[in-house]
Amino acid sequence: MLKYTGFDIVFQEIPDEVTLAVNISNCPHRCPGCHSPYLWEDTGEPLTTAVLADWLTHYGREITCICFMGGDASPDEVAGLARYLGTQLVAPVKTGWYSGRSSIPEGFSTEWFHYIKLGPYLQEKGPLSSPGTNQRLYRRLTVPAKFLPGPACRAAAAQDPIGLSPEIWEDITGQMHRQAPYILSC
Ligand code: SF4
Repeated sequence: MLKYTGFDIVFQEIPDEVTLAVNISNCPHRCPGCHSPYLWEDTGEPLTTAVLADWLTHYGREITCICFMGGDASPDEVAGLARYLGTQLVAPVKTGWYSGRSSIPEGFSTEWFHYIKLGPYLQEKGPLSSPGTNQRLYRRLTVPAKFLPGPACRAAAAQDPIGLSPEIWEDITGQMHRQAPYILSC
């Protein structure tokens, strides 16, 4: 089960969004120079739809996005929570995922995400805010299936590829370089 160690409302991790960023533990990547090695442990509280519903109730008017920071040990669970966010009626929010993987996991559905960051933290290349970073941040170009009516919704969901097709996702990493000098490297 996914567990989280904390959350914060932030302004820099996703451009032009007020983001509730959730730190998820049990990270499998072990990047040298990791900013938060405590996230390597399987620690924290269970991250469930009930927890998300509580945050949406309390912070839904303040935020425009919820971003899962990590969760690479259980990507399908991250996708399941994204689906919940895309179908819940408590408060409309966009959904992001900061993954340390270099590519989308096989079989992983991007259907319910608006933003996805890929790439491990490499000390010599720097975090997402560094012009030389290996990490990439992608924004969805197409309208997520949830906003489309009936048959169009189902058709869009069926056509959404497993991966980050340039027809659907744009690389907006450059926008991060004009922002704050420090961004979490997860
Ligand atoms: S930098 Fe991020 S992806 Fe890498 S080990 Fe630390 S928490 Fe995991």
